Amino acid sequence: MNQSNQRFKIGEGKISGSLSIFLGILAFFGVFCFKFPELLTSPEFREIYTTASMQILLSSVIIASLFFAVLSFILSKKKTWGMYGLLICTATIFMGGFTVQGSKVGETSWYLGLDWLLLDLLLMAVIFIPIELIWPKNKEQTKFHPEWRTDLVYFVISHLFIQFFGVITQQPANIFFGWMGLSGLHTWVQSLPFVIELVFAFLITDFFQYWAHRTFHIHTYLWRFHSVHHSTQNMDWLAGSRTHFIDIFFTRAMAFIPLYVFGFSPIVFNIYIIFMAIHAVLIHSNTRINFGFLKYIFATPQYHFWHHCEDPKYYGKNFATIFPFIDKIFGTYYLPGNEWPEGTGLHEANFPKGYLKQLTYPFTKSPFDNDLNMEERTKR
Ligand SMILES: [Zn+2]
Ligand SMILES: [Zn+2]
Repeated sequence: MNQSNQRFKIGEGKISGSLSIFLGILAFFGVFCFKFPELLTSPEFREIYTTASMQILLSSVIIASLFFAVLSFILSKKKTWGMYGLLICTATIFMGGFTVQGSKVGETSWYLGLDWLLLDLLLMAVIFIPIELIWPKNKEQTKFHPEWRTDLVYFVISHLFIQFFGVITQQPANIFFGWMGLSGLHTWVQSLPFVIELVFAFLITDFFQYWAHRTFHIHTYLWRFHSVHHSTQNMDWLAGSRTHFIDIFFTRAMAFIPLYVFGFSPIVFNIYIIFMAIHAVLIHSNTRINFGFLKYIFATPQYHFWHHCEDPKYYGKNFATIFPFIDKIFGTYYLPGNEWPEGTGLHEANFPKGYLKQLTYPFTKSPFDNDLNMEERTKR
C-alpha cells in the first residue's frame, strides 16, 4: 500500500495539517478576488454577497488555517505539514489577507468564477468532509486516494469557467425556443403557487435530464464521453465533478430547455441551482447515510452508487438525478433494500490519467476494447 492510500489517524497532526494547507490555499486565492474582482469574480455571485461579509469570511479562514497549523505543529513529529500551513498563511497575510479592501468593479467582457470556485469548495468541504469522516461508506478510502487530484482539476475547471459553461449551455434553448413568444406562458407559470412552481421545475428538468443521461448510455459514441464520469473507483464529494465537457454541455443544455421554455421565477431558478449543486455532490459522496423513507422519494448515495456499480449485471439502472420514480416509470429502477454495490467504476475501460488526456481521448479513441454502449454490454 503506498503512502497516499494510508488512512490518517487522529493525533498524528496530518488531518490538522492538511486542513491548514487547504484553508490557507483558499484564503491565498481569496485575496486575489478582492484585488481583481472584475476578472476573477462573477457578477451573479457579487449580487448575492457583500464585500464586508467576504472580508469577515477571509479573516476567519486565515485564523482557522493558523489554528490548524499550530495544532499540527504540536501533534506532528515531522512538523512539515504545519510548516506548509504557516508559510501559506504568512504569504496570505503579507498580501493583505486581513486588511484587503474591495476594489471598484469595472466592466469586462469575460471573467473567471474564482469566487464561486473558492466558496463552493469551502462550503462542500465543510458539509461533506465531516459527513464522510463520521459516516463513511468505504472506510478504507482516504481523502487522498489516487484519483483525487484529477477530480479536483475537474471541479476547478467547471467552476472557473462558469461564464463559458453558462453561456454555451443556454445557447441551444435560446436558439430553438428563443423565437417563440413565451412571455404569456412565463407569466402563467410565475403566477402558480410557489410550491407547485418549485415541484414542477424539479420534475420537468429531471425528466429531461433522465433522457439526456440515458442517451449518453445508449449511444455508443456518446458513451465514450459519459464513461469518463463512470471511470472513478473512489466515490466521494469530489468524484461527481469528473464529467467530460461534452457530457456537461448536453446534459445541462437539456435541463435548460424546460427552465427556459417555462420561464420559472428567479427564486425557483436559484433554489434549483443551489439544490443541484449540493445534491450532485451528496449522491457521489462516500457516506453510508441512507435517509430512511426519503430514499424512495429522492436519489441518495446508495441509489446513485448502484448507477456507478462496476458489475456489468447492474449497468443501465438509476438514471434519474433527483426522483427515483422516473426510473420506475421507464423500467430502470434498482434499489435492493439496504444493499450497496460491492464496487464502483469501469474496470474494462482504459482511460488515460489526468484531466487533459481524458478531455481529448474520447473524441478519437474508445476507452473500451469493444466499442459497445452500456446496454449492449449488459446483454453479453
Ligand atoms: Zn451514467
Ligand atoms: Zn454519477
